[in-house]
Amino acid sequence: MAGFFNDKNVEGLMTGDYFCPVCGEKMIFEDDETRDILVCEHCGHSMDLDHYGFTDEEYAKLYPTKEELDD
Ligand SMILES: [Zn+2]
Repeated sequence: MAGFFNDKNVEGLMTGDYFCPVCGEKMIFEDDETRDILVCEHCGHSMDLDHYGFTDEEYAKLYPTKEELDD
């Protein structure tokens, strides 16, 4: 399934810089090979790369749960 990109996500891809939504510090990849999870070394916040730039609500709309798809 193709990923969905928002402006912040694209900016991160272009620049390689991802910033923590909690404290604003630069985030790093938990695993530099898979590059799917971002971790903030400053506050410890972590998130999936495909969640970056989305609020939880926006993200939930992009990726409905199985229960929602069954309706
Ligand atoms: Zn942080």
